Amino acid sequence: MKINRGRIEKDFKKITSISSTKLGCTRLSYSKEDKEVRKYLKEQLLEIGADYREDSVGNIRAKYNPKGLTTKSLLIGSHIDTVPNGGKFDGLTGVVCSLEVLRTIKENDIELGNPIELIIFAEEEGSNFGVTMIGSKYITNKIGIEDLKNLYTDSGETAYDYIHAQGFNIDPEKDFPIQKGKELGMIELHVEQGGVLDKENISVGIVEAIAGMNSVKVSLKGRANHAGTTPMNMRNDALLAASEMIYKMSEIALNYETAVITVGKIHAKPNASNVIAGEVDFYIDIRDVVQENIDVITKNVEQLCYSIAKKDKVEIEIETIGSSKVVKMDRELVDILEDEAKEKKLSYKRMNSGAVHDNAMLNDIIPTAMIFVPSIEGISHSPYEDTNMEDILVGTELLLNACLKVVNNR
Ligand SMILES: [Zn+2]
Repeated sequence: MKINRGRIEKDFKKITSISSTKLGCTRLSYSKEDKEVRKYLKEQLLEIGADYREDSVGNIRAKYNPKGLTTKSLLIGSHIDTVPNGGKFDGLTGVVCSLEVLRTIKENDIELGNPIELIIFAEEEGSNFGVTMIGSKYITNKIGIEDLKNLYTDSGETAYDYIHAQGFNIDPEKDFPIQKGKELGMIELHVEQGGVLDKENISVGIVEAIAGMNSVKVSLKGRANHAGTTPMNMRNDALLAASEMIYKMSEIALNYETAVITVGKIHAKPNASNVIAGEVDFYIDIRDVVQENIDVITKNVEQLCYSIAKKDKVEIEIETIGSSKVVKMDRELVDILEDEAKEKKLSYKRMNSGAVHDNAMLNDIIPTAMIFVPSIEGISHSPYEDTNMEDILVGTELLLNACLKVVNNR
């Protein structure tokens, strides 16, 4: 059974041509480009006889079930939206490869013991309303229609009104939530968005866990003063204190094998080159695949900040503004993926994901697993995002073989 490279390339070409901009791809959910891509994908689905449905927020489910079985489905797929000026591969790869899996099954007339459903999530990137994974949160009942009335576009329109105005019919009657015990599971193929596979020259990653995260805001208050007239020993410099905190917390992360700490956002006041900063706010992003570590690291980072604030005589306030738990992939599905990779002698490794995916939203409801394909130089959310077609083919082959194992053995 051979994956058809030409068909995959044609899908990529067609879809990216619809949504290409001068710099990369822009395909925001509910946009003109998004609707055109949906139309193309629906045509492809009809061609293989996969009936599709679309829910209130634009998630699509298409069941390939030629024998009309009433047994549980295995879900495969990903998202089709991009960030503004994003790449060609984030999200779309999982959708195109899953579609190709269904085409290959049909072409070879393979009997299925359970149906396979292609699932296409809407609004994963959070480009419209500032909240990520709206589609997968909606389909798993983590948010509902009422919540859509409290999410806003930059111009102040609610998500509910905006989605409706773009021609999507919001009607709970036609929704199809994912429910406990009703599906076999979900396997999502996605680009790694990091540089591990590319650096190690490995074709596919089998994800074991998605990192959990704590988001912490630190607010410092010193005293703004003249940069020329205030001797070094008479300052309460909030920015200097922040610098020491940020530098030293990176050393804490180094004590843990898989932990990462990032400060990517900082505001200094008054933010003038000749004034000692009187106030500084910065945001810490702490991630690991070991839940216990996240909690211990957060505590250690907080203690570090308190002690530097005390030494530098600045006031400090620390607030946890967000957190998500570590998500472990389903052991059985991970083992199936690994067995298939071994059997077919594919170049693979077990690994973790630092980024959150739609799949994580389903994980508390049904068994989930993920396949990663390499991102060249680890670049993603960028027009320069790239993945070798050879690796995409290996990933698709693994997805196909794992799907057949799952649907024919359960
Ligand atoms: Zn993605």
